[in-house]
Amino acid sequence: MSQPRPPTTASVPTGKAQESGPVEMVELHRRMTAHLFPAFSSEDERFLALALCGEAGELANIVKKRWRDGVDMTAEAREEIADIHVYLALIAKCFGLDEQGINDEVVRKLRKVMERHNL
Ligand SMILES: [Mg+2]
Repeated sequence: MSQPRPPTTASVPTGKAQESGPVEMVELHRRMTAHLFPAFSSEDERFLALALCGEAGELANIVKKRWRDGVDMTAEAREEIADIHVYLALIAKCFGLDEQGINDEVVRKLRKVMERHNL
């Protein structure tokens, strides 16, 4: 079993960020997109909800192509999963949840559903 990693950090493989060590995922995203999107887009839940759906759509399209064409798109799927993860983390932050908070909320929700079904 692997060791748990810090929940909101990511190692950066190249560039200045590597020199500064682990960078918070949301901060890295902000730096990467600062020249592409208005500043509010990392904090506006409306933008983030649409972006999350867009990335989920990109993943669904890859799954469709794997199913339809029988091609290996594992690398592409992993990239879309990473995109989804970033937008999920950003929108969760709008609602006061960090990575650990998301995990805690998942457990709370699953327990709630299990109780509802007497499991
Ligand atoms: Mg994408």
